[in-house]
Formats: sequence, C-alpha cells, structure tokens
Amino acid sequence: VKQVYTFGGGVKHDDPRTRDKVITGGKGANLAEMAGIGLPVPPGFTITTEECVKYLAEGANFSDQLRADVAEALTHIEKTVGKNFGDAADPLLVSVRSGARVSMPGMMDTVLNLGLNDQTVQGLVSASGDERFAWDSYRRFIQMYSDVVLGVEHHLFEEALEIAKEDNGYLNDTELTASDWQKIVAEYKAIVDKELGRPFPQDVQEQLWGAIQAVFDSWDSDRAKVYRRLNDIPGDWGTAVNVQAMVFGNMGDTSATGVAFTRDPATGEKAYYGEWLVNAQGEDVVAGIRTPQYLTKAARERAGAKPLSMEEAMPDAYGELADVFELLEKHYKDMQDIEFTVERGKLWMLQTRSGKRTAKAALKMAVDMVAEGLIDERTAILRVDPMALDQLLHPTLDPKATRDVLAKGLPASPGAASGTIVLDADTAEKRAELGESVILVRVETSPEDIHGMHAAKGILTARGGMTSHAAVVARGMGRCCVSGASAVSIDMKGRTLKIGNRSLKEGDVITLDGSTGDIMAGEVPTVEPELAGDFAELMTWADKHRRMKVRTNAETPADCKMARQFGAEGIGLCRTEHMFFDASRISAVRQMILAEDEAGRRAALDKLLPEQRDDFAQIFMVMAGLPVTIRLLDPPLHEFLPQGDAEFAELSETIGIGVDTLKRRADELHEANPMLGHRGCRLGITFPEIYEMQARAIFEAACDVIDKVGEAPVPEVMIPLVATKREVAILRKLVDDTATKVFAEKGKSVDYMVGTMIELPRAALMAGEIAEEARFFSFGTNDLTQTTLGVSRDDAARFLSPYVEKGIYARDPFVSLDIEGVGQLVQLGAERGRATRPDLKLGICGEHGGDPASIAFCEKVGLDYVSASPYRVPIARLAAAQAAL
Ligand code: PEP
Ligand code: MG
Repeated sequence: VKQVYTFGGGVKHDDPRTRDKVITGGKGANLAEMAGIGLPVPPGFTITTEECVKYLAEGANFSDQLRADVAEALTHIEKTVGKNFGDAADPLLVSVRSGARVSMPGMMDTVLNLGLNDQTVQGLVSASGDERFAWDSYRRFIQMYSDVVLGVEHHLFEEALEIAKEDNGYLNDTELTASDWQKIVAEYKAIVDKELGRPFPQDVQEQLWGAIQAVFDSWDSDRAKVYRRLNDIPGDWGTAVNVQAMVFGNMGDTSATGVAFTRDPATGEKAYYGEWLVNAQGEDVVAGIRTPQYLTKAARERAGAKPLSMEEAMPDAYGELADVFELLEKHYKDMQDIEFTVERGKLWMLQTRSGKRTAKAALKMAVDMVAEGLIDERTAILRVDPMALDQLLHPTLDPKATRDVLAKGLPASPGAASGTIVLDADTAEKRAELGESVILVRVETSPEDIHGMHAAKGILTARGGMTSHAAVVARGMGRCCVSGASAVSIDMKGRTLKIGNRSLKEGDVITLDGSTGDIMAGEVPTVEPELAGDFAELMTWADKHRRMKVRTNAETPADCKMARQFGAEGIGLCRTEHMFFDASRISAVRQMILAEDEAGRRAALDKLLPEQRDDFAQIFMVMAGLPVTIRLLDPPLHEFLPQGDAEFAELSETIGIGVDTLKRRADELHEANPMLGHRGCRLGITFPEIYEMQARAIFEAACDVIDKVGEAPVPEVMIPLVATKREVAILRKLVDDTATKVFAEKGKSVDYMVGTMIELPRAALMAGEIAEEARFFSFGTNDLTQTTLGVSRDDAARFLSPYVEKGIYARDPFVSLDIEGVGQLVQLGAERGRATRPDLKLGICGEHGGDPASIAFCEKVGLDYVSASPYRVPIARLAAAQAAL
C-alpha cells in the first residue's frame, strides 16, 4: 500500500486513504480535501501515520520504496510550483509539519523554510528581489531546524538576536536590515558549530529527512504524551508528516498570515473571528510573540483597537477569505479553524479543521446550525462533548459583586476562577495537589506548561492573542483564561509581579473572568449557572432520543433538589451511612456500634429511628412521584468509631459507659481488611435490628409523605454487597415483614420493591438465582471493579497512573469502566438476571454511571437507567442520547 500521497496542483484523489484521517492525519486529509474542492492550497505530500508507527518501532531504516515515493512526490511539488528543491538560482522551499488523527495544537514539531543553505539563499535573494526577506527566512530556518531537529537550545539564538538588537539600538525585529540578518545567520551557524561540533547541514535532502524524523520523534515527546493522557488519545496512533511548498506571509506589506474561525470559538456567535499579522510568518501569530490584529472591522471597533483589520487593510484578499469560510462551513457542516497566508496579495489556505470550542460555543453552534438547516438534531446531539457540559454547570461570577479590577486582558476562555497566584507550571501542579486553587500566571505559556495549566483553576498570560497556545489549550480543557494582558509584568527572580499599578506576589489571591478579560484582586463571589436557552434546547433533544433513564446518587435534600433541576428522574443510590455522620446523631450511632448486645443496640437504634425517618421524609418530598433507591447500611462499622482520647471521653460522658470498656469494644471491631470484612449485607445478617430500623424509617416516612404531597414516592430498598441468594432471601423477608407491620400500624401502604446491588463477582455469576429474590439489580461498579481487579479503591492512586501511562489499562478503571473485563460481569449478570425475571429492573450506580464511555456500554447491555452524581446528570443525559443514536 502507498505511504505517500500528493495533494494540490490538480492531482486526482481516487484513493480513499488520502482523505482518511487515520492514514494521512487530520491536517493531511483536510489539505487533500480542500485542494479537491478547488481551494488554493500550496502543493505538497503526506507521509502516512502507518509509516510513523513503523518508524517508532523499527527506527530510521526507511525502505527504498519510501525514499523513491518521497522523491517522486517532491517532483510533483517542483513541477507544480515551477521551482526545484536545492536549486541555487530559484529554490523551492518547503514546510514540514506534523498532523495526527486528531489535532494536538502545538504539541508536536514543525519546520518552515526548509531547503535554504548558503547557495540557495542567494537564489532566494534574486528570485524574490527582496534581500531582507531572504536572509530573514534563512535565519528563521536555522533557528527552527536547530531547535527542533538538531536539539540546539532555542535561547542561544534568542540571546544572540537580543544582543544584535541592543548593539544597533533597535527595539523591534522589523528594524533589522538585510545585512543585519546576514550577520545574524553567520552567528547562528557559529552557534550550531560550537554546540554540535559540526556545521549546520547544507545538503537539502539531509535537511528534509532530518525534519521528517524529527516530526515522527515528536509524537513521543513529553508534552505530546501529557497531552495524550489528558485527552485520552492512544499512544499507538502516530503522526503523519506533511511536506508542502512554502508560501510567504513575510514578503512585505502586501503579504500577511493569520488564523481564523468561521464562528466565535468562545461564544459560538455566528461572526468571523480571527487574527492576522502583516508581513509575518505563521508561528509569529500562534506562538504569541507579536500581538496580532483583528480580522474584521467590527471586532476591531468593538475592542477600540487602532491597527487596521484585514477587512480594511486588504479588502480583496479578505473578500476571498470570507468566500472560503462560507464554502468550508457548507462543506464540513461545522465550524472551521483555518490557517492562511497572503503572499503578495494572493490568498493561500494552509489548514482547516473542525475548531476547538468552549462548551458554551459548542452548544450555541449546534443549536444555531439546526436552525440554519445545516445539520439535524441527531448531529447536533453528537456534536457536543458530554464532559464539556461540566463547564456550564458550575458557578460564574456574581454580576452584583463589586470587582476590584486590576487590569484587563483578552477574554480567551470563559468561566471564572479565583485562586492564589503561582508563577510556574511545576509549582502550580504541586500546590494544586495539596488542594489549593491556583491561578497560573505566565508571560506566555509554552507546551511545556501543559501540566500546570491542567492543575490550575485559571490561566493568565501577559502576551499572546486569542489564538495563542494558552488560549487554545485552555479552551480545550475548559479552563478559564485571560491572555495578552500587557499590564502584567513578572519578576521571576523575586517571584513577584505587577498587575496594572498594584504590586503582588506569588501566593496572593486574584480572580479571573474569562468572559470579559477582567483580572481582579481577591476572591469574587459566584452565582449558580443559568440552565435555560441553548442548554435546555439541546437537553430536550437528548431526552427525546435516549432510551435509558438518568437518576442521581444523592442523600441530602439539597443535592436531590439540585439533581432534579439538572433533570434527574429519580434516585439511583441514597447512601444511608452519610446520614449517620451528622454531628447531632453520631453519638447514638457510636452507642449502637459499641453496644455489647442486641438490647444495647436496640436502645441506640430507637434514638436513631426518628432522625432517619425524617431524612427519608425530606427526600421523598423532593422526589415525589419518582423512584428512590435507598441502600441499607454498607460500610464497616469501625468507620464510625471515635478517634482519639478526647472523642472517647466525650462519648463515655454522653452514654454513660466507661472509656476502658469503649476502647475494648473498639479494639474488638478492628479489622485487617475492612473492605472485604464485616460490611454490606453482612451487617444486616449479623445485626438484623439495624436494617429493621432503617426499613421501618423508610416505610413510616413514605406513609407520612403521601398525605403531604399526594404523589407517593416509590421506595426501592437495596441490599448491598451480596454474594448469595440466601443473603437476599433472609434480608428481603426482614424488609417485607417490617413493611407489613408498618402498613398495619399506619392503616395504609405504599408500593415498594426490594432489590440488591451486584458488587461482587460471585453475585454477577449467580445473578440467575439471586434474581429469584430481587426485583431489581443495581451494578455497584466501584466495588465490582475493586473485587474483580483485586485492586483496592482506597490504595489504587499510588500505582494506577503508571499503569495507565504504560497502557496496561487504557483509562483509570475506577473512572471509566473496564469494559473488557468488569464489563463481562455486568453483561453476564444482566443476562442471567433477566433470564430468571424478565422484568428485572437494571441500573448502575458506581461512579461509572456518569462517564460517557461507560454509559455507552450500559446502553449496549440494555440497562434501564444510569445513576450519577448531581453535576453529572446532564452529562449522563447527553451521553445516554449519544449512545442510543
Ligand atoms: C459501588 O460499589 O459501586 C457503589 C455504588 O457503592 P459504594 O461506592 O458506596 O461502595
Ligand atoms: Mg459498593
């Protein structure tokens, strides 16, 4: 099979591999596609991701076939452009860029202006008629190639340039003349010679293959690995390499370069949005070295900026660009992120891809595009990443709060964040790990900062535009970001900074508003999010298309209320133990646990009964008419024991039993391995009076509430951690008997069900038998994962991340269900249970119930509902709809 595909210059693409992102990567596939629909794309070729995978496994022994194919593809470029690679009279120059299956902005390597050497630079001088441009291009090439391919440190070149500028009294790069650049080229070459002990490569073929290898290698760079881990991108995809004829945005004032979006990636508004720079090359915009200018007149005016927009300064090229925007949106039916260059008035397209966007923008665009007739509801549902909704569900700054605004930057990624200032990525990570909210403040961010950006609640940069690395990455992560705040100046040595005219230091608290660009002193209060508008619209569509119900895991009336607002259709798990920790009742709980006999326990349980009944009554009121699954007590009893002498003394005082007796009982309760110890239904088997009290509280509360709200709650009493049918049988009888008694006492009854959790492999295996006693199953995949993998939930953090890094598990199995392994038990349990009892109700209430990939699996297995924590409910609704489509 072919591993090299050409594009541009009128080549026909009959091989579907050309436009397959898996093979030619996102950038390569889209370049071929754009060329195919007649857009101006500089000719080039793509080496496949398959070749990268082979290279990473076998090293640089490229086959003769590949070398021949590359040579032929290069000839294609030469013929199309009418210049030859390495030609001393009029050289062809190329760019060499990475391009993975999905875009990983800034994470891998790029080399521009390749093909320059001491001879061809002279050819470029005469062919372009622009001496300054030619020497500037050569120094850019040496700098980039040396950094990316040869591993010479970037700062050595920067320093040489700074010194040259100082010596000449220049402030800006634009002041350097042709002969200045020529001198700098000589210095740069000397730096390379000194650092490497060999000269900068003059052979253009050597340059080309060096760059190809560097791009392949950059797939495994540290920053690319971190990015992949954060975005769940598999390590075995590899990157393609795109080699393309250079076009120049730095050929004077009729040339330019820019980055644009067909709609606003922060708000979703239908307005072209972008940045450009006259007389510059692409990396100047993206790297945030020069602060770019507005693309449209409207945006410039809104910002009150002076430098002309592209619409005003280059109306013809802008008009052509606007036509391209329209064409691309119609073609891809999605918002596009575009890179372009204008070379002496002529527009060239260098890249298009579906643009990264904030959750807010994703929602607005999906809803708008349905209204425009561009996409249908189903496509709209599939467009929005469920996890991104999380960004919208969290509080924003209270509009009524007073703001002590220190300065303003660009509103690069919306949301609000308060936290302490940290000045580097490592510190951000360290302090965040200790539970601190931090704001990462940098002059500009580089891809090496990505772990710190992830750890931070917000990001503030002094330089860079809306399309700078910081902005793009922050939007992708859903971090709030204010960029290009020129009023921020940082003193790294003293670890202090100035924002506007205020002096601050690392550790001081600031607040960012990513929607306005405000930087504020101190912490600013927040308000709950608005769930109307586009959000509500998309959710209505999702609800229409999903089959599974979505419930919530909650045990306080406040959480239940919030979950209902988020659309929960019942409670899938009410963990009753959380109710026992309440300060007002913990001593009764402790008295119950430490009692020597049943009579002692019953005395304490009598005190707990009214409290527990009140808990359930409140929840039933909030959840009127909806199913409420209440799990009977689950954790090992010693979790409730007093800690330390003071607590023992206090308890002894309250319940009138000596400290020594209490301590002896506590020792007796100690367990070597509590997770597999005296917990779950084992408590109900050994101390039936505990479950009896809880069942009574449930039924009394349910009977009381009917009178108040009219709509009866539907209690589902759930027995945890069972392994055998007999356990369920014994405890079901206990619950049924209690119900019968309560209903007789109250003179009324409610519908209820008794069911069980499937949390142990034996329970999944014996599901057929267990279903004879249980009317519903809820898969407790937290414990089921722990017991199937033999990995302790409480201790896993220490070794699981290396496991994920090494690919032993694709994702943390406590976050995303191990579908291959644990999934088999879920499937088998569901099948065997349903074989016995066809109307067995099936749900999941482990953390996986809020994870989109796990939800997709639940749909496949045919579960009736998923249950997730309140904030995950909307995520689960959307994910369930996507799974059903
Ligand atoms: C479970 O094990 O998946 C579960 C929901 O119960 P818990 O997390 O309370 O053990
Ligand atoms: Mg459990």
